[in-house]
Amino acid sequence: MKFSCPACRRPLLPENLNVQTDLALCKACGQVAKLSELADADFDAAAVSQPPPGVIYSETTGGHVIRATTRHPIAFFLVPFMMVWSGFSLGGIYGSQIWNGRFDLIKSLFGLPFLGGTVLFGSIALMAVCGQVEVRVNGAEGSVFAGVGPFGWRRRFNLDEVDAIEDSATKMNYPGSQGASIVLRGRTVLRFGTNLSESRRYFILNVLRRIKAGRGSIA
Ligand SMILES: [Zn+2]
Repeated sequence: MKFSCPACRRPLLPENLNVQTDLALCKACGQVAKLSELADADFDAAAVSQPPPGVIYSETTGGHVIRATTRHPIAFFLVPFMMVWSGFSLGGIYGSQIWNGRFDLIKSLFGLPFLGGTVLFGSIALMAVCGQVEVRVNGAEGSVFAGVGPFGWRRRFNLDEVDAIEDSATKMNYPGSQGASIVLRGRTVLRFGTNLSESRRYFILNVLRRIKAGRGSIA
């Protein structure tokens, strides 16, 4: 395990870590911290060196960009299922009204859950076919984008305000979900990557930890 000082980000020496008292002392700046709260500064250097298939990682003067595909074999089931399910339910409820040129309020209201289901499962199916997760970090400024092409959801975070970068189990169990996600925990919580494979998630997690561990180090 490697630890870095939470104040100055310099690496902490093993002789200045005390597991029994759960304390760590930074010789460089005198900061005393709880050892148990430093765990996230650690990262898997071997995992970071080689992106898994489906992940592109680039580091330029403009910052770090990690792009990972959310392509998943579940698409082979989801896409035909969606076509049949949505086709029959929406076609039967709304298609018939359009065909007859007559609006039916009760029928239309009855169809709303099917419309919602089509949007929800349709977007999950689309992510499994050609979705991607993009993480950008430039200095402390970071963003996470999940979507298809230019369409999706972007959320921002500040890496300096993130206390822990965790791989966490999730309760979101939908087809294509991997049962876990990356959690950036700080003053706020940002959770992403639910539809990323384990190896892609592990890579992103460790790159983010490495970037965080390197923040504020001697430039
Ligand atoms: Zn320090």
